[in-house]
Order: sequence, then C-alpha cells, then structure tokens
Amino acid sequence: MGSLRKQAAFCFEIIHPGLRQILASVFQFPLLWRGVGVRPFISYFYRMIQISPDSIADRFMRYVRIDTQSDPTSTAHPTTEKQKDLSRLLLKELYGMGITDASADEFGYVYATIPSNSDKKNIPVICFCAHVDTAPDCSGTDVKPILHRYYDGNDIILPDDPTQVLRVSDSPYLKNHINNGIITASGTTLLGADDKSGAAAIMEAALFFVQNPAIKHGEIKILFTPDEEVGQGTAKVDMQKLGAQYGYTLDGGEAGSLEDETFSADAAVIHIHGVIVHPGYAKDKLVNALKVAGAVLEALPKNEWSPETTEKREGFVHPTTVNGIAEKATIQFIVRDFTLAGLQQHHDRLKKIAEETVAQFPGATMEYVAQEQYRNMKEVLDTCPQVAAYAEEAIQRAGLSVKKESIRGGTDGSRFSYIGMPCPNIFTGMQNIHSKLEWVGIKDMAKAAETIVHVAMIWEERV
Ligand SMILES: [Zn+2]
Repeated sequence: MGSLRKQAAFCFEIIHPGLRQILASVFQFPLLWRGVGVRPFISYFYRMIQISPDSIADRFMRYVRIDTQSDPTSTAHPTTEKQKDLSRLLLKELYGMGITDASADEFGYVYATIPSNSDKKNIPVICFCAHVDTAPDCSGTDVKPILHRYYDGNDIILPDDPTQVLRVSDSPYLKNHINNGIITASGTTLLGADDKSGAAAIMEAALFFVQNPAIKHGEIKILFTPDEEVGQGTAKVDMQKLGAQYGYTLDGGEAGSLEDETFSADAAVIHIHGVIVHPGYAKDKLVNALKVAGAVLEALPKNEWSPETTEKREGFVHPTTVNGIAEKATIQFIVRDFTLAGLQQHHDRLKKIAEETVAQFPGATMEYVAQEQYRNMKEVLDTCPQVAAYAEEAIQRAGLSVKKESIRGGTDGSRFSYIGMPCPNIFTGMQNIHSKLEWVGIKDMAKAAETIVHVAMIWEERV
C-alpha cells in the first residue's frame, strides 16, 4: 500500500487544481479511501497519461513518406545514404522540442538525451530505440500513406493497385480497430510501420515528457538506428556515447505484446571433399562431392526439424546455400533454437547425419564448422528481471493486457542485450510487415507511446 500511496501522490500532482482540492479532502480521511481502495483512483489517474492518436498519426505519416530502404548487398554504413534523410528529420524535430543534446553521426545513428527531472539519484539510465530503415523485400519509394480515420470493418482495396486487398479474413486483428483509425499504403509499396511506428511512438513520448514536467523520470536516452533489416543495426553503434544501462526496442506487433525472448542462432557449414580423377579413367576411384552433398541433404528429416515444419518454441535446421564442384562442395545451414542446449543438440544431430552419409562414400571426407550468430536475449534478461517486469507493468498501466511472446528470429534487442544493454521489445501495432498490405492502427501507436511514458515513470518510482 505504501508504494500505491506514493503513486497516488504523484498522480495528484498532475491533475486539475479544483479536482485536486476535492480529492485532498477525501484523502484526509484515510479510513474512507482505504475502505474504497486506492486502486481505482490510481488506474483512473494512469489513464490521464494520454497520447493523441491523431497527433501520432500525423507524425508517422511524415516519417513513412521518406524512403529509407536498406540494402543487404552494400558494405557501406549505412547501407543506403537515404536512411539519413529520416535521421536528419528526427534530429531536427528533437531540437524543435527543445531536446538540444541530440546528434546524428555519419553512420545514420541518432542519439538524444532527455535529462532526469527527478530529485532521486541513482535512477538507471534507460534507452528507447527504433530503426529508421525499411525492409529490402518490398519497395519503399514514394510511400503514400492513407489514413482510414473511421475504419468501417470492411476489406480495403488499395487504390494504386486494386489487386492488393487488405482482407479482414487474412488480418482478423483489423476487427479491433473498427471506428478507429488505421493507416495503409496505397498498393505499390510497403508502408514502413516497421519501424517508423516505433520512431513515432518514441518521438511522441519525448514530446510528452518535455511538455509535462510533472511526470518524473530519470535520464532517458533515445536511439534511432539504421540497417536493422539487414542485420547491421548495431554494427556502428557507440554504446559508450549512448550510456544507457537498460533499453527497450519499439519494434513489435499487436498492442500489449512484449517480447523478451529470441532464438539463439548459429550458422553451420559442412565442407565435403570428394576424390577427383580424370572421368575417363575414374571407375572405382572417383567420388563426386556434389553427389555426396546431395545425399546429405536427402538424409535430412522430411517432416520435422525445418522452418516449414516447426512453430512456436521448436527449433530447426535449415540449409540455405549449396556451392561446389565435383571435387569439393559446401552446404551452409542456419541452426535455431530458444535454448543453448537445444542448439547444441541440433549441431550434434546434423553432424551425425552428415558423417553417416559421407561414410557411405569411401574416400570422401568432411568437416563441420559451427559459427555463432546471435543469442537469445532471455539469457541476459533473466539476470535483470525488472527490465521486462517494468514493461509488463507499463503496458497494464496503459490499459492493455500483456501478451508475452517469443520471436522466432533475432532483433537488435538480442544484440544490444549482449553488448551491455539488456533490451526487450515492446509493441507498436505494426501488422503485415515487409509487404504492400502492411498497416497499423493509430490507437495502438498512441498506446505504445503511453507505454514508454509509464516505463520511464516506473523506473523512477522504484528507486
Ligand atoms: Zn523492425
């Protein structure tokens, strides 16, 4: 009750003076409000932290019009210069809010600080992070966002390509947005909600902090990264300069979802050596490495253990590339699991299948090389459970129920977690990402921004 009373006192600070007086008289009689319970008051006050869906929609539409597609074939940082167009706009807007400790670097990263406004010392510095780039899978040039302000619940035919139809049967989550606003693209491009909805939520929360000094928080860092979609989002990040202890990426789906777990990921390469002899005189001597490679692939299980046969918490092994000539061949795999023990079992099993197959071709030899790619962020987040717990609480304070999810892939958050900033992933509302049917609900984006505000408040309250 002690901490609830503290929270109530805080809420008290930001309410209308008249209402404050009435409540003050009620609060003078502890027996009365103890009888009623303070919780209903508190949840009422939390609802006063509101971000306008329309204002975040405007902001979001401004960002998605800027082409920021990244390029997996480029070795430059950022992989495409045009990503900096959005970085520059974000920087300008941060300055415009009065956040003067903001900078953009030559790699396209934007760093900014909202100073602490709390008397408390030792509040951990937390970071909110989103990526500016969009996926290479689908065009991001000339995005024309369309706001369907009072969505009527019907399928939506996108005007620039009528074959692109957003169907309620394919996207049942649309039903949660009837009579609210949703934003789609126009049919020829992706929308870019991944992850400009995250950028918009962070910027809107930043503006809220600036305009509401009664909301107490510690030092907050803002980070926008390039090249997340091509796996380079943390390649040039300066963690020293960022100086945050804990982080949150805003890069998730349905309202209320919180992802604190990713795959642990390895690559595996099998090198196969054949025996090469002039084909005219090769009888009983030649061993063709390509055929051995084919046999290894054939020996893999058909109905399990692959991306196409697994879901939820199941891991898999997935051949991605075969290269070779008769003399030697290589097969590249990706290996995925949520646990390190599971990952090791996949390696052991794959290696055994390969060795047994190669043994059927006398003279052929093989090597098996495993390479670490990224690790499940949960291994790190379990060492500081408050990071995800505060996000859960913040989501609830924003009036949503929490959906804990595991990502069957990696995020920037998994990399951040292993370079010193434990970092779960919070929803923004984005749907059908990387496609022309991408869309986002504007109330979800507003709720994401509110969640950011609550996260910062909770960190301050708990010191
Ligand atoms: Zn993303």
